[in-house]
Amino acid sequence: MREPRYDILFEPVQIGPVTAKNRFYQVPHCTGLGWVRPRMVAALRGMKAEGGWGVVCTEYCSIHPASDDLPHPYASLWDKGDIKSHALMTEQVHEHDALAGVELWVGGSRSSNLFTHETAIDVDSRPNATGVPYQTRAMDKTDIRELRRWHKNAALRAKEAGFDIVYVYATHDYLLSHFLSAQSNNRMDEYGGSLENRVRLVRELIEETKEAVGDSCAVAVRFSAEQGGGGDGNPVIGEHREMLEMLAELPDLWDINIGDYTLEMGVSRFVQEGSLEAYMSYVKSITSKPVVTVGRFTSPDTMVSQVKRGIVDFIGAARPSIADPFLPKKIEQGRLDDIRECIGCNICYSGDSKATPIRCTQNPTISEEWRRGWHPEKIDKKGSDSSVLVIGAGPAGLEAARALGQRGYHVLLAESERELGGRVTRESRLPGLSEWVRVRNHRTQQIHSMTNVEIYLESTMTVDDVLATEVDHVVVATGASWRADGVGLYAEIPISGLDAHEQVFTPDDIMSGHLPTGTTIVYDDDHYYMGSVIAEKLRLESIPVNFVTPNSVVCNWGNMTAEQARVQKRLIDLGVNIIASHRLSSYEGQCAVLNCVYSEKEQNIDIESIVTVTSRHPNDTLFRELQNHKNEQPDSAPKSITRIGDCEAPAIIAGAVFSGHRYARELDTIVNPDARIKYDRVFFEDS
Ligand code: ADP
Ligand code: SF4
Repeated sequence: MREPRYDILFEPVQIGPVTAKNRFYQVPHCTGLGWVRPRMVAALRGMKAEGGWGVVCTEYCSIHPASDDLPHPYASLWDKGDIKSHALMTEQVHEHDALAGVELWVGGSRSSNLFTHETAIDVDSRPNATGVPYQTRAMDKTDIRELRRWHKNAALRAKEAGFDIVYVYATHDYLLSHFLSAQSNNRMDEYGGSLENRVRLVRELIEETKEAVGDSCAVAVRFSAEQGGGGDGNPVIGEHREMLEMLAELPDLWDINIGDYTLEMGVSRFVQEGSLEAYMSYVKSITSKPVVTVGRFTSPDTMVSQVKRGIVDFIGAARPSIADPFLPKKIEQGRLDDIRECIGCNICYSGDSKATPIRCTQNPTISEEWRRGWHPEKIDKKGSDSSVLVIGAGPAGLEAARALGQRGYHVLLAESERELGGRVTRESRLPGLSEWVRVRNHRTQQIHSMTNVEIYLESTMTVDDVLATEVDHVVVATGASWRADGVGLYAEIPISGLDAHEQVFTPDDIMSGHLPTGTTIVYDDDHYYMGSVIAEKLRLESIPVNFVTPNSVVCNWGNMTAEQARVQKRLIDLGVNIIASHRLSSYEGQCAVLNCVYSEKEQNIDIESIVTVTSRHPNDTLFRELQNHKNEQPDSAPKSITRIGDCEAPAIIAGAVFSGHRYARELDTIVNPDARIKYDRVFFEDS
């Protein structure tokens, strides 16, 4: 059972008319599911409740078609159909004695309304904040009255859907934050000018929400603790303290955050656990109402400290609840070693960015709860007494071995190297990526406690070695290697000259400690984190670096994980010379030839070395040899030979973990190749 020092985390906390059973609060977070995939999102939220979260909230939930964010899948409470959809969630949340919260949302100039074609409204006629070439209509008094009516009606629908907590969402650069801000609010009426006037709309919405549903629902306000602009760790509180003082006792709960998403939900490369404390430590001195904030909290001791020191009443979490929906239960049951800690990679956020179901590096089951019927903690018992050899202990092989072990199979895990972890072990030694080692640590921790999983280190397997094990099934998880020939997104054929010179390196060389000398080009045609991390590593070794990419920015895919701007800034701060929108055309020893991707204009750069970060080759030789053997001598071959992870198709770490997990789930099951997954459809009846 749990250690007494964590008892405080399991105290009930009253929120207006409702009571949360403990202090674990899943704050509103995106899932890439929203109104588009109601059954998937209901099952995902229900799983959090099953895992012990005392409060489970929706994502941002539109109150009216004038606030539409497609292609990003928001939730909506526009009509009866939406009430039915949300009831799926609240029922599942209530089954586990948790409270369900809904974050009512009005986007203002952040909602492009590309789906509804309604005119977006805001405090003023503002350019669309996401770059869509539209402006909002400046709200007149009628618009304000309408907005208040919409909000109240959405709150009533929320109550009907079974929600216990209804939000007024007044931050994150959405409409209400523009009314609050002296910079964006230029109104001359009673909603602009003085602080009291600018706060008026938020005050009215809180009061009207309470009036409408406050008898049975708590009213929460999501609010920024600071005005912003001070840089990391330097809060500029500005008027926000006064605003909070003016509204302090009005809502039943304060959900406090800051304006800068890239800090609030920053990747671990740049932002550490508990990084909001400096911003919001004053809030509890202003209000007697319960306060929640986030901080990627995974350590129960940090959580206890936050509560004991009077920083928060609730431990808010988005990412830690995604990586481990059962985090509260594990603390409660004293199973701290079983916690699957978030690594702060923000792959989860890329789901919303790409308008696709959320995925997580640590938790391969997220968003598969309804569709594939996957549970993050439970898995079917083995379907036979077969033995399985897993070759390669990177994230794919480790997860396959762990999950097969959990199912009860006899597993042999063979790894060439002296340590487990594959790319995760290697990459976590690069600057800023140390938390990524949690992907390995969680799995090795679990495997070490399983008597049915045998680990063989320093065991490079050949076909003969594999056959000698006489196992029933073989899983080849031998990963992938970075190419040195320059083939990548923008280059379909090898780049001239790279094969003729010695001073050409790949990330695998750098990770093995084999570093270039002299002025170096890091050529990034991969467009995610690796190019910039290699550049950072070389700069920390005092190597002059030119970062060349055909893209117009560094780490373009980092836009999906809310880190691109920070990556670019990091390289600028480190003195990296960034040459964007240029392709590497050839390398002639001491000189690289670059061409502008728009104009083809050529420039030559004198360098000594080059690191190509372009694409990877699957390490599938062993797999193909095994297949050949099976074709030629089927009687002496294992029943099945399967490749997973980067050996099948090089991808992100989340892809490798998913692949390993899926293999383990599907062994000895019948998978219909024509109907692999259920397809969630939108409810349209009654709407
Ligand atoms: P993934 O991301 O797909 O898990 P990784 O590259 O992280 O792939 O891991 C692959 C692992 O496989 C590496 O640790 C590597 O040492 C190991 N490996 C590669 N070839 C063999 C082999 N023939 N026998 C045993 N281990 C191997
Ligand atoms: Fe954490 Fe990464 Fe999972 Fe998001 S995807 S919850 S950041 S481990």
